[in-house]
Amino acid sequence: MPQDPANFLTLSQAVDALASDFGQYGPQSAMFRKIGPLILGKDFKTGMSSGRRTNWIRRMEGCPHEPVDETALGFYLIHMLETRNINAKDMAKICTLVFETPVRPGKFKGESGVWVEGQEAGFVCRRCGGCCRRLANTCTPEDYCLWKSLGRDDILAWVKQEVLGHGKIQYRIWVDPRTGKSAESCPFLVGQPGSDLFSCTIQDVKPLICREYPFTQKHARLTGCPGFTPGTG
Ligand code: SF4
Ligand code: SF4
Repeated sequence: MPQDPANFLTLSQAVDALASDFGQYGPQSAMFRKIGPLILGKDFKTGMSSGRRTNWIRRMEGCPHEPVDETALGFYLIHMLETRNINAKDMAKICTLVFETPVRPGKFKGESGVWVEGQEAGFVCRRCGGCCRRLANTCTPEDYCLWKSLGRDDILAWVKQEVLGHGKIQYRIWVDPRTGKSAESCPFLVGQPGSDLFSCTIQDVKPLICREYPFTQKHARLTGCPGFTPGTG
């Protein structure tokens, strides 16, 4: 079966994607309890203590297990993924649980990694405009260069360049040029008269983040996109 290279992650890209998931959605208790043993083996325990669900980790063999809160556990799991050599088979199991989609171990151009199943099937944009109103974001340097090459000053006016550490530039969208603050809604979102549908007026050149949203079914669920929900819209 042909596979889309866009769905292949090397092992280190998979760790980055997992870290991004944890950073974006915060502690995910039930999922952490499932992947804890896969990453830490016997160095992870979960159970009840004083009537509360508690997780324990053991940082070194011979040391006692210590209780850990869920935020710290998320950081610790990522740290261990970065420092332990997790094989592709185990990484696929972890990614399946975290991304909530089938993930298989495999290779691309000779490099080990995981294939993440595409999730386009079953998605229908309901044109509710929800994502265009509530998701503050950044665009890529490629988006910015495209708008520059097309002379789209109308779009560029709503992009704010911010210099991060090491001189790296972040392009924040959509920032109101009059106030310098994030707009409550994307300025290129328009309602269709006589309906509750919305359209994008820069559809052909909209940024990558909009073209790829909602990335996964899980991302849709956790950010309020109804596109995978049958019978909505
Ligand atoms: S929130 Fe989902 S369904 Fe609504 S406009 Fe955005 S992508 Fe489409
Ligand atoms: S550019 Fe288009 S798709 Fe992206 S947030 Fe604005 S209206 Fe929505």
